[in-house]
Amino acid sequence: MKVLVVDDSKIARMGVIKSIKEVYPNAQLLQAINGLEAVELYEKENPDVVFLDLTMPVMDGYEALGKIMEINKEAQVIVITADIQNEAKLRVLVAGAKNMYPKPINGEIMAKIFKQDILL
Ligand SMILES: [Mg+2]
Repeated sequence: MKVLVVDDSKIARMGVIKSIKEVYPNAQLLQAINGLEAVELYEKENPDVVFLDLTMPVMDGYEALGKIMEINKEAQVIVITADIQNEAKLRVLVAGAKNMYPKPINGEIMAKIFKQDILL
């Protein structure tokens, strides 16, 4: 399984990666630090799952989500953000995200995400 982790904060990326490794120790992990990198890596690597931050420089998560869904309408994107407003959640769900979770994520939440939101 190939997973793309997108966040401008290294600490946040490391937190998501640690949680993924608790559930899937052998997952192949890719990282991007903004939406533009994420879209480029998505296109090149076709990951099974994307964990996507919303607030990022260069290209934010909303725009990246739109572009990823244009590349693959079956893309499995989970938004992980500090912006937990219902408006943000509705917006990303309408745009095609599988679900949205507040930061920080731990192994228990990650296990739940893979069980209920992701098809492998
Ligand atoms: Mg951010």
